Amino acid sequence: MRAVIMDALASPLEVRDVPAPTAPVGGVVVEVRATGLCRSDWHAWVGHDDVALPHVPGHELAGVIAEVGDEVTRWHVGDRVTVPFVCGCGVCEWCRTGQAQVCPNQEQPGFTQWGSFAERVSLPAADTNLVAIPDGVSFEAAAALGCRFATSFRALTGRADVRAGEWVTVVGAGGVGLSAVMIAAALGARVIAVDRTPAALEAAARLGAEATVVADGADIAARVHEITGGGSHVSVDAVGSAQTARDAVLSLRRRGRHVQIGLLPTDNGMTAMPMARVIAWELDLLGSHGMAAVDYPRMLDLIAAGTLRPQELIDRVVGLDDAAVLLPEMATASPVGMTMIDPRRA
Ligand SMILES: [Zn+2]
Ligand SMILES: [Zn+2]
Repeated sequence: MRAVIMDALASPLEVRDVPAPTAPVGGVVVEVRATGLCRSDWHAWVGHDDVALPHVPGHELAGVIAEVGDEVTRWHVGDRVTVPFVCGCGVCEWCRTGQAQVCPNQEQPGFTQWGSFAERVSLPAADTNLVAIPDGVSFEAAAALGCRFATSFRALTGRADVRAGEWVTVVGAGGVGLSAVMIAAALGARVIAVDRTPAALEAAARLGAEATVVADGADIAARVHEITGGGSHVSVDAVGSAQTARDAVLSLRRRGRHVQIGLLPTDNGMTAMPMARVIAWELDLLGSHGMAAVDYPRMLDLIAAGTLRPQELIDRVVGLDDAAVLLPEMATASPVGMTMIDPRRA
């Protein structure tokens, strides 16, 4: 099969033929029809994750089951499926209670194993992790869910518990941030989007942001307090830096809830936070790490009803050769919306 191969960290990627995977016990092989290019792929490429080389990136995928392993009971060849980027083991106490997104034995295609920038990918514990794609939802839309959209959905519903009428400030209007804007607006929240790029803020406004703030060195928190009359009820850091996390937390009103979605890789795993404010104002700091397959139906119902439209977040569709060039550029590129890859394209 053709695949995007990473032979060394932070070095040019190559598209070449490699042996196709076979289905593991309990797992399947999926023929990839769409797979998203995400900043997390760049984190792995640059060395923030511990990947074994040579490696195939890619973790936001949708496709058709091509091979079913022994002991799989729920799935068949030809089924249209997607999968969360965190695949649970299916047997531990967290997986058994519907919390596969924090499984201690989790696999992450594109990180702990070869991913989906390829014609085929193997997926473990299919009965726990696969999600059927409803009729009328495209492969591209389904692939957009796996990481950024589902993570935003769970962050806002399962973690911050956003209610209609609340102010939600989303810092960062890339793929994950724009997803959060669309979802928060659909939940009836009043959304403020913050980003450095005016084009990203225009997209956020189209997707439902009531107000936008350009991160041009201005005091973000002060602007949000002004707009909201005392701070937002919920803040989301969809970027993942000490600065954006702090801006988001300080933009909250008293008793507000912050959800950290953007990854915060640092040398010692620590990030400074304004804890004096957290204590005095009784702020909640929440983490969010993907969403288990078992929680997908509520989100898929809203997509089938047209309330959520992940397909509108897709900016372009490219082939594997373009993906190999675009991935290393994720550090500096400011794409508006998501880049989707179709491995069958030349
Ligand atoms: Zn597990
Ligand atoms: Zn991702």
